[in-house]
Amino acid sequence: MHPTLIVGSVAFDTLHIGGKCHTKVLGGSATYASIAATHFGPVQLVGVVGRDFPDTATRLLRDRGVDLAGLEVTDGETFHWEGRYSDDLSSRETLRTDLNVFADFRPKIPSTFRSTPFVMLGNIDPALQMEVLEQITRPKLVLADTMNLWIDIRRDELCELCKRVDVLVLNDEEARQLTDEKNLVVAARALHALGPKTVIIKKGEHGALLLQGQDVFSLPALPLADVADPTGAGDTFAGALMGFLARSGDISSANLRRAVVYGSVLASFCVQGVSTSRIANATAEDVLARYNEFQRLTSF
Ligand code: AMP
Repeated sequence: MHPTLIVGSVAFDTLHIGGKCHTKVLGGSATYASIAATHFGPVQLVGVVGRDFPDTATRLLRDRGVDLAGLEVTDGETFHWEGRYSDDLSSRETLRTDLNVFADFRPKIPSTFRSTPFVMLGNIDPALQMEVLEQITRPKLVLADTMNLWIDIRRDELCELCKRVDVLVLNDEEARQLTDEKNLVVAARALHALGPKTVIIKKGEHGALLLQGQDVFSLPALPLADVADPTGAGDTFAGALMGFLARSGDISSANLRRAVVYGSVLASFCVQGVSTSRIANATAEDVLARYNEFQRLTSF
């Protein structure tokens, strides 16, 4: 079993969902991804928080097996993001992004983390994602996540990063935006040409596509009647996928397909609770039962 190194944001989120407001709940790409990955093995987290970050949150992460040696605590306030979801939860708008201590964040990888073989570069500035790669020895697998903001303002840096990434994870809109291709299969080809041999395109409630050259795997999302909060589903998906791969050390196509299923299992739990509540309290039995549910869902 290998640990997974996860770099990204650790945040407070204020979420407006279905007429309710959840103020300053735990969020951030690294937080969701780390909690998801701990279902499969140990995690090393690299990020930054302010002095206002509560002990309850650090304890939650540490108790789940997250090594916080790479979590800097600096003077100032923790990154804060505020978003409002549409009534059908299919879209959201960002109301506010307070970078706070994140504005001056330069990832510093502790020496004990530098030879970790499984590395997830969560959604942060691609220039910082590159700084991480420069501090570590060549890992067995590097996964990078990104978002529309970086495609808009850091396209060149993102393309440079892609040359050193094995698995690129992005959503359908971002895949189209980065490649200027409308068709996702054609977009995936263009993404392969940037460097990553494996491309995963997330389609929200419509599931995910795993593309490795000509080899394509498509998995639906679990149809759920009780969606509470879609925040962090993408980060959760990527964290669980990496945690699962790190557990076995097997990065074959067959195991990547299983990893996509486990990513979708944890993402389905993620959306059923506000903030990280449901991914933090799902048991090993819950995870296995839902994996079996996916098997039934896709068997014919
Ligand atoms: P997702 O729903 O998977 O897109 O991820 C949502 C998480 O991303 C929230 O918990 C936010 O705190 C975090 N987030 C939002 N904007 C940014 C940003 N510009 N950089 C890093 N993390 C962000």
